[in-house]
Amino acid sequence: MQRFIVGLTGGIGSGKTVASQWFEQQGITVVDADVIAREIVQAGQPALQQIHDVFGAWVLLENGELNRRALREYIFEHPQAKQQLENITHPIIRAEIQRQLQTATSPYVILVSPLLFETQQTHLTQRNLLIDTPETLQLHRASQRDQHAASHIQNIIAAQMPRDQKQTLADDIVVNDGALSDLYAQLSPLHQQYLALAQTQ
Ligand code: ADP
Repeated sequence: MQRFIVGLTGGIGSGKTVASQWFEQQGITVVDADVIAREIVQAGQPALQQIHDVFGAWVLLENGELNRRALREYIFEHPQAKQQLENITHPIIRAEIQRQLQTATSPYVILVSPLLFETQQTHLTQRNLLIDTPETLQLHRASQRDQHAASHIQNIIAAQMPRDQKQTLADDIVVNDGALSDLYAQLSPLHQQYLALAQTQ
């Protein structure tokens, strides 16, 4: 069966998670690339074993989990290691995304990814929705959520694709600059539209 897949993207703190939770409440299956990226490197997973084999035992904590901080620092000092790491993780993440998209049973499926446009995941999607939020609000909401310094969030925003570029690539844009109820009110007609599109494809 050909599935109707809607990509959902936006910068850090834009509201991807709250939007995807709303779609889940409507019975729509949500496949989240970030969640998958975290799951595949959990203790005992084959990707973590491969990372161990390539980089060495220091990548593991005593409890067998990934030492994220050590790996982050190593990559910062050895930029080529990022590519090595992604050579291991990206094919596994791609396969798991495909598997979850294929096994979904809802009328359409949402693929949430902060790097939907940057990593060409749009070849998987029929339509793309941008959660668009002014940077000042992104900064405020993400630093409150993560207890990170605003400068840290600012660096992440600076490394992501600029908003105006995402706006030109998206089919649908929802501006998340008000209350959550305003966000949901904008998602509701889109949900109806996606249901209709999924039926007619
Ligand atoms: P993302 O997944 O894009 O990083 P989140 O959905 O986690 O962003 O939203 C970032 C933070 O801002 C969360 O704590 C979320 O609850 C909050 N948030 C998002 N949208 C709104 C809104 N319209 N009003 C108030 N808080 C919001």
